[in-house]
Amino acid sequence: MRTTSNPFTKHPILQILITKCKTLDTFQQTHAQIITTGLILHTYPLTQLISTILSSTLTTSLSYTLTIFNQAPNRTTFLFNTLISSILTHHNHHSQHTHLAFSLYTQILKIKTIKPNSYTYPLLFKACGSNPAWLDSGRALHAHVLKFLEPGEIDQFVQASLISFYSKCGKFGVCRYLFDQISQPDLGLWNSILSAYNYSVDDSDLSMEVLCLFSDLQKGSKIKPNEVSFVALINACANLSAFSQGIWAHSYVVKRNLKLNQFVVTSLIDLYVNCGFLEFARQVFDELPKKDVFCYNAMIRGFATHGYGLESLDLFKKMVSEGFGPDDVTMVAMISACSHVGLVDEGCEFFNSMREKYGLKPKVDHYGCLVDLLGRAGRLHKAMEIIRTMPMKPNAVLWRSLLGATRNHGNLEIGEIALDRLIELEPETSGNYVLLSNIYARMNKWEGVKRVRTLMKDNGINKMPGTSVLEIGGAFHQFLTADKTHPRSQEIYQKIDEMNRKLHEYGHNARTMDVLFDLEDEDREDALSYHSERLAIAFALIASDPNSPIRIIKNLRVCVDCHDSTKLVSMIYKREIIVKDRIRFHRFQDGSCSCLDYW
Ligand code: ZN
Ligand code: ZN
Repeated sequence: MRTTSNPFTKHPILQILITKCKTLDTFQQTHAQIITTGLILHTYPLTQLISTILSSTLTTSLSYTLTIFNQAPNRTTFLFNTLISSILTHHNHHSQHTHLAFSLYTQILKIKTIKPNSYTYPLLFKACGSNPAWLDSGRALHAHVLKFLEPGEIDQFVQASLISFYSKCGKFGVCRYLFDQISQPDLGLWNSILSAYNYSVDDSDLSMEVLCLFSDLQKGSKIKPNEVSFVALINACANLSAFSQGIWAHSYVVKRNLKLNQFVVTSLIDLYVNCGFLEFARQVFDELPKKDVFCYNAMIRGFATHGYGLESLDLFKKMVSEGFGPDDVTMVAMISACSHVGLVDEGCEFFNSMREKYGLKPKVDHYGCLVDLLGRAGRLHKAMEIIRTMPMKPNAVLWRSLLGATRNHGNLEIGEIALDRLIELEPETSGNYVLLSNIYARMNKWEGVKRVRTLMKDNGINKMPGTSVLEIGGAFHQFLTADKTHPRSQEIYQKIDEMNRKLHEYGHNARTMDVLFDLEDEDREDALSYHSERLAIAFALIASDPNSPIRIIKNLRVCVDCHDSTKLVSMIYKREIIVKDRIRFHRFQDGSCSCLDYW
């Protein structure tokens, strides 16, 4: 730890300053005493005065301290650092304060007798990391670190602040480069690189990187990972649905007597939810003595994505009754909980209650959930009206959910509007085109299918390949559509033939409407059988313990035919199959799915 000790800490005037001063009057009186006693000539009392005023609730605190600062006879780097730190800690809600901090920094550079030190930079990097607009300033500052600090001054704090700055800007390559330059990273640095990768929650490559780094941490050094390290690891496992590694992490935390605090428990809830073990998630949630909004949110969201809307509602009531005010995240979870189980009125009520009951201003995500709720229920015109009248510009997520709704409810007019807007916002996302093309295909409007295909060609779009991932015995297996690269490919395709025979025996007829639209008719049924999740299921039937559920993560939505056939497969092979698709979870068991065919 960095500490400062000096003869002034117990000075009676400073004691009064810290404990008694609350109003402008009292501050001015004490300020006068600090001047008359000559305390003002020393850096420490001066910094105390400045930081106490800045942390107070005085409305004029900033201008008052700047006046004191500008009159200070001896401006040291320490004094500058204190002022910058206080401004950024207590007034960092507007970028004007970041500007102020930077202008103070440039003043340091202009004074010949002082220079910035290793305490100056971490403050500024933290400010730059909190706003993407400051990325370039942060980079320039990085050059200053190399220019103005001696190599010995670039300590673990400076390094950690650099890593966390670049990670907040999404520059993971730079983070890793910086980390690899450090010969003996301490626990703080390990934690900052592990947490760095967690900023990008959707990128499974980065999550994989966390797993690798964590094993380096254990192998290479004598450093023992702490709760922060485990939160990063468990979050990565949650993102990958890596059940074996996740459960190892959980048991390690328990065995080493690390704290199962809110952060660890929240990451564990996400882990078990994402791996399809809702009951485990519930258990860690229930056993946490001091809950907070974050773990409530994680559990409510868990129930929602698994289609247990009523359980989400119950938990919400419990949360409110225990005195926790719901936040933005809770409301997203609640509206989507209602959406997934078709509780349209309840969902609308939650949306309205945000403003009326909880003083929350609906954000674009909440409008997105509302549109999704109405769209799924077939109230397309109402959904359209919400989009037209909402106070902010609708984003791609919103138009996509409307487009998806028109797929289920066959409204071409609205579908076309939605696609036009989507292409404006996301000209390169293939899924948008595929959705509309599926709507046309379902209605046998082949002209439309052709038009979408031409549009894709003109915009240079290729269809995003579907991939499914599953973990067996701690190893990951990934399958693409019609993939033949797996070492046991031959057995897998034999199994698929067997599955298809049995599906036919049970009267299953492939629904070809949702299939790749650029295939000829006779190819369609084949292509369906080789969708990535089918390969993954076939492989799991061959390679995994017959008594264990099959867990698959898919990057796209599940198609109608895969959904139908997976229901039957779960019955024929007596296996529970859990598929996490881009939107939600499907738990297939005894011939039916937890989504009740509503997704
Ligand atoms: Zn499919
Ligand atoms: Zn389902």
